[in-house]
Amino acid sequence: MLSPLDPIALQRLLDQVAADAPSHFGEGKVADYIPALAEVPPDGFGIAICDVQGNVYSAGDGGKAFSIQSISKVINLVIAMQRLEEDDIWTRVGREPSGQAFNSIVQLEVEKGVPRNPFINAGAVLITDILVSRIMSIHWVLREQARRLAGNPDINFDARVARSEMDHKARNASLAYLMKAYGNLQGNVDEVLDLYFHGCALAMSCVDVARAFAFLANRGVSPLDGSVVLAPHKNRQLNALLLTCGLYDAAGDFAWRVGLPGKSGVGGGIVAIVPGQMSICVWSPRLDTYGNSVAGLRALETLVNGLGVAPLG
Ligand code: GLU
Repeated sequence: MLSPLDPIALQRLLDQVAADAPSHFGEGKVADYIPALAEVPPDGFGIAICDVQGNVYSAGDGGKAFSIQSISKVINLVIAMQRLEEDDIWTRVGREPSGQAFNSIVQLEVEKGVPRNPFINAGAVLITDILVSRIMSIHWVLREQARRLAGNPDINFDARVARSEMDHKARNASLAYLMKAYGNLQGNVDEVLDLYFHGCALAMSCVDVARAFAFLANRGVSPLDGSVVLAPHKNRQLNALLLTCGLYDAAGDFAWRVGLPGKSGVGGGIVAIVPGQMSICVWSPRLDTYGNSVAGLRALETLVNGLGVAPLG
C-alpha cells in the first residue's frame, strides 16, 4: 500500500500495471458489431490518473486517443444535470441497475418505454432526445463540454466511427422507436441517434478522460480550472449512479472487484472515480462478454489494491 500523493511511487505502480497488461492480451475480443471499432488493433493498453490537485500520471498508451463510446453517456448526463430541472430528466428515465445487457430491448417493452437508467443504451438515447429538444447547437455544446472538461481544445468526433454506427444503427434505432411508440422519446429518431453516435465517437485519450472526470472525485469542482461542473449533491448522485449502473449488467461484479464508481465503453475504456482523491482511466480494446475491457478491469483491480484505496471500507 502506498500514499497516492507520492508521485514517484504512483508512477512506478502505473508503469508496473502497464507492463503486466500484455499478459491479458489474449483474452476477450474487440467490439465488432461496429465495423469501425473492429479495425482497432486489439492489443493496446493505456492508463492515466488525474488527482484532485490536477496532477496527471500516465503509462503505456495513456496519451493515445480511442473511441470513448459509452463513457460519453456520462458527458451527456452532466449536460442535462447542469441545464435542466430534475423532473425533466428523472420522470423519463430511471435510476436503477438494469441487470440486462447494455443494448437489451426486453426490459424496455415490459417497462413501457421507460429505460432503467441513463447508462444503458436506451437510457442514453433518451437523455440525448432530451438534449436535442432543449439545447441549441447541441453537437457543438457536447464537443465543447468534452474539450472544456478535459482542458484539451483538440478533442473531436471521429466522423468515421459516427458514420459506421449510423450505418449499423438497427438495434439502437429499435430501442428509440420503441420508446417513441410509448410516447417517451419525442424527437426525430435519426436526429437523436446522430447526436448519440457522435458522443460515442468522441476520440479521447486516457489522459483526457481522467482529466475530464476528475471533478467527480472533487465534489463537482474541476481541479483543472476550479470551475463548478456540478453542485455537490448532484455530483454525489452521479457517483452513486456510476457505482450502481456504470458497468452494464456487470456493475455488481465491478463494485465487488474494484469498489469504485465507474463507466465503461465498448471502445475498451473504463473510467473510475476515487472520491476525494483521483479519477482513473484505463483503455484496452478486448472486451469480455458484458462489453467491458478485460485488461482494463484487471489493471484497475491491481491498481486499487496497490494504492490501498477503498472508499467502501
Ligand atoms: N455506441 C455503442 C452502442 O450504441 C455504445 C455502447 C457501449 O459503449 O456500451 O452500441
